Amino acid sequence: MLLKTILNKCHKLKSFVYQNVESARYRSTDVFNVTVVPRKNSHALCSCCHNPAPGYDTLSERRFEFIPLWGYPVFLLYSMRRVQCSTCGVKVEEVPWADGKRELTKTYMQYLAFWAKRLSWAEVASAFHTSWEKVFYSVEYIVSWGLVHRSLDNIRAIGVDEVACQKGHKYLTVAYQIDRNNTRLLWIGKDRTEATIRKFFTFLGPVRSQQLEFVCSDMWKPYVKAIAEMAGQALHILDRFHIVAMLNKSIDEIRASEHKQLQADGYEPVLKKTRWCLLKRQENLTEKEEIKLNTVLQYNLKSIRAYLLKEEFQVFWDYISPNWAGKYLDRWCTRVMRSKLEPMKKVAKTIRRHRPLILNWFKAKKAYSSGIVEGLNTKIKLTTRKSYGFRTYKCTEIALYHALGKLPEPEMTHRFY
Ligand SMILES: [Zn+2]
Repeated sequence: MLLKTILNKCHKLKSFVYQNVESARYRSTDVFNVTVVPRKNSHALCSCCHNPAPGYDTLSERRFEFIPLWGYPVFLLYSMRRVQCSTCGVKVEEVPWADGKRELTKTYMQYLAFWAKRLSWAEVASAFHTSWEKVFYSVEYIVSWGLVHRSLDNIRAIGVDEVACQKGHKYLTVAYQIDRNNTRLLWIGKDRTEATIRKFFTFLGPVRSQQLEFVCSDMWKPYVKAIAEMAGQALHILDRFHIVAMLNKSIDEIRASEHKQLQADGYEPVLKKTRWCLLKRQENLTEKEEIKLNTVLQYNLKSIRAYLLKEEFQVFWDYISPNWAGKYLDRWCTRVMRSKLEPMKKVAKTIRRHRPLILNWFKAKKAYSSGIVEGLNTKIKLTTRKSYGFRTYKCTEIALYHALGKLPEPEMTHRFY
């Protein structure tokens, strides 16, 4: 039958032969069954040590799901042999198309995992008439393979951050590689504690940790402390994105309380729906938001003063010399300290406390891709949001490595997608 020819072309097995193809019924569906037998004079391999070993017995026939063809499920049927290995004892043989006890062939798992990068897992399951669990196993398989085979050499710049994941304010600590030529998710840890960040450095190992040249993070104390201890030689940078986020948070606070106060005092609700006008960068405003912003700017409000201070701060990033940038920063902080805007003053104090780490940004400006941490965080949020099905931490972890880890994949002799 033609299917045999196709299989030999795209999925050739060295020590096995596609013997017979037949159309059959399986679980009330029309399927193709492909019987596989060992090639004559080929030796079975021990699944434990991967060496040839003499045969012991043969188990009953097993079914391995292959990529469906024109909507028909395709199964490879094979009776696994057991071998009497001189080193490992009696073991099931190793077969090239499948892994351990899994029912799916490696090729099919790689195929499903490919689509799981582009669609949600539930969509993949429905598109290929398979179960969510099978898609999960497939992604898990491809991710474990990738994690074992990826290279962790030449990592010079990393970013460490925390990401809120799902409801209940659960946090993940994430570590990215942010080198210009290679940005990817390196590591994920549960929670956001000092122990978590230390686990990351343990994972990276002392040699690689000491090769780091740049480490980017927010100013959270345990991060700063752990980074200084584990990678003290690296230039520790407080990234622009973290500082802007801090400024925005304080504006948000000021605006919310002022809005409440105005309402309580019976004034016109001028600050209504201004949240994004004040938080977004001016060039990103929609026309409507811009009009709103221009109107509200005419009022002498705390929120507006805070907004203008934030806008002034933007100039800071345009400096080239860290020295001049430092002077600008000091002047800005002084102005904020006189502003009577308490949340903003808190930011200024934090900035003063971390002045050297902030100025490191100018020293490292060209060495790593700034803003990449922010971009990767956004992608993480998208991935976790897409994933109502991720009931466990394990699922989230696998999905994130799959989406952002840039993991290598097993080589295929034929690309099925
Ligand atoms: Zn063995």
